[in-house]
Amino acid sequence: MNKNILVTAARYSFPHEAELARSSLEAKGITAFVADAHTINMQWLYSNALGGVRVQVYKRNLEAAQAILNTDYSSCVESEVDCDEEPKCSKCGGVLEPYTKGKRPAFVVFILFGFPLFFYQHGLRCTHCGYFTQT
Ligand SMILES: [Zn+2]
Repeated sequence: MNKNILVTAARYSFPHEAELARSSLEAKGITAFVADAHTINMQWLYSNALGGVRVQVYKRNLEAAQAILNTDYSSCVESEVDCDEEPKCSKCGGVLEPYTKGKRPAFVVFILFGFPLFFYQHGLRCTHCGYFTQT
């Protein structure tokens, strides 16, 4: 059997996920290709029909590639970044939560007219005093 044919090592719903997987494989020295990314970028509803965006490797590298893709590296990230530090409100010191300002009016107008007329801002809002800061 030919070991140089391409086989699918993993499937993802979105192209950016497949590119992250391809980058992980390339970092370990395994040549990888992303298939169907452009098709799914143009019409993302095709993702389920096509079986997702495929990450393909040479058949000889399949087991090593799947081992790399199935490894959970989240503990490495947590040790590098201090995840315990939560942002605090500059007014009262309360806890901040992600919040989108102007989302409701934009949603209502979107339902009525088919497109959002109001601008909205992503940011953080204090759960105690309601102070909004843009991120
Ligand atoms: Zn506050």
